[in-house]
Amino acid sequence: MDFMEKLVSKVSEGTKVLSKKTDELLELTELKMEIKHLEDEIEEAKLFIGEMVYRSYLGKETGTAEMREKCSEIEQMYYKIQQLTQEVNEIRGVRLCPHCNIEIREYLNFCPSCGSKVV
Ligand SMILES: [Zn+2]
Repeated sequence: MDFMEKLVSKVSEGTKVLSKKTDELLELTELKMEIKHLEDEIEEAKLFIGEMVYRSYLGKETGTAEMREKCSEIEQMYYKIQQLTQEVNEIRGVRLCPHCNIEIREYLNFCPSCGSKVV
């Protein structure tokens, strides 16, 4: 092999190595994306199970003592959120129409959306 042939051969090898590295990187990215996707699906499935347990708790049907305790905590947090939302609404000068649940100005006596008396 003369110099030029050696050089071409070296460059070609270098390109192959680089291309292999690029392929590996792409494969890694794809694998990582698939792992992330599966992890997301697992989290979603767990949330789904949690939602089902919570619903059955609300229906007073089933669940272990531990599940019922957790569900009771969730129920209390929902209640707290409701109270805090009410505080936020008071500060913002709005309230919810009890009929259509739309947000209306506190000083209004009738809901502009459904026309119900809201005092
Ligand atoms: Zn309304």
